[in-house]
Amino acid sequence: MKLSTKIILALIAGGITGLLINLFAPGIFPELDKFLFTPLGKIFLNLINMLVVPIVFFSITLGTAGLGDPKKLGRIGIKTISYFLITTCIAIVIGLSLAAVFQPGNVGEFDVTNVEYESKEAPPVSETLLNIIPTNPVKAFTEGNMLQIITFSIFVGFALTMLGNKTKGILNLIEQGNDMMMYLVNLVMKFAPYGTFGLIVSAVGSQGLSAIKAMGLYMIVVLLALFIHAILTYGGSIALLAKKNPLWFFKGFAPAMGVAFSTSSSNATLPISMNTAQKNLKVPESISSFVQPLGATINMDGTAIMQGVATIFIAQVYNVDLSFTQLITVVLTAVLASVGTAGVPGVGLIMLAMVLNSVNLPVEGIALIIGIDRLLDMTRTAVNITGDAACAVIIAETEAKKEAVKA
Ligand code: ASP
Repeated sequence: MKLSTKIILALIAGGITGLLINLFAPGIFPELDKFLFTPLGKIFLNLINMLVVPIVFFSITLGTAGLGDPKKLGRIGIKTISYFLITTCIAIVIGLSLAAVFQPGNVGEFDVTNVEYESKEAPPVSETLLNIIPTNPVKAFTEGNMLQIITFSIFVGFALTMLGNKTKGILNLIEQGNDMMMYLVNLVMKFAPYGTFGLIVSAVGSQGLSAIKAMGLYMIVVLLALFIHAILTYGGSIALLAKKNPLWFFKGFAPAMGVAFSTSSSNATLPISMNTAQKNLKVPESISSFVQPLGATINMDGTAIMQGVATIFIAQVYNVDLSFTQLITVVLTAVLASVGTAGVPGVGLIMLAMVLNSVNLPVEGIALIIGIDRLLDMTRTAVNITGDAACAVIIAETEAKKEAVKA
């Protein structure tokens, strides 16, 4: 059986098992979770997290060196960031519009008298941007600070290109390091079906069904917006800009989406999403290793969608009418929040506080959605990384065309 089929089956089996335990034997869940499901998931998560930092370093350095010409690097950089920003804006607008149409906050009773939410301090975006340059790369590596590792790797790759033959030995070493890491990704992936099974049972089993019922419409609106964005924005741009069949894209990338769904972390899924894009979607290594790590860190369309829907939902629950200017403010802050959101579980919700603050909505409103956020986090993470892969395919195709014209 193919690995992707096994992962999909594990997702379905995990969902059904979690649901059955939730419905018929919720009492045994804590013990089973502690000794079986959580450890299974944790082993898998640790295994892939173990590979993230070295992969990002090796592959981006190699990718930058592989692009050779600094002009090409600049061009790809501009195309990548433009795609990321434009699609994130589209994502929020879809989220805001669907929430305005379906009005999830006006249907049903939401008691806000006792809700409390202590917002964690979200780092100011200006700080995130200034901190892109690491003062100490070793610290960046030990802390797993993705943006800083990316910057350092781009510098190293650039130096290797400029120094050419002089640093051939280091380039060889990095090439071999990269091969070694990719081999390990393939090895770790053999455990993916068991890991995803554990993670999904754990996530579904721990959800309160009554909470899901109460928040049903909100969840449906977020899921619908995610679905529409994936099909229209990614499918559409793959067809129009890369001239490829969207079905081929989604089918090829499905295994990575499955892993993102179960881990709720773009960072943790990175080794697998790069591997899948290179193998199944034929994205050259130099492009995949530049676009995807950057995307996993700054491009979060799924998160932006949740923030759009959540903002309108909270405004509706608290009976606040948002003006057009306020809606524009929401779009802009949500784009910044998406750049500043780290690719780990649950951070999107912390960054939502920043969006709510920008239009003076009560941050306590987050307490209403926190209970069901885990399930939505899974889905939006799958969308987050799909956006990065769509961008990688589009850049690969447009660059290939450019090379062909040159030749
Ligand atoms: N879990 C998301 C990710 O890693 C971020 C978030 O929305 O919380 O992509």
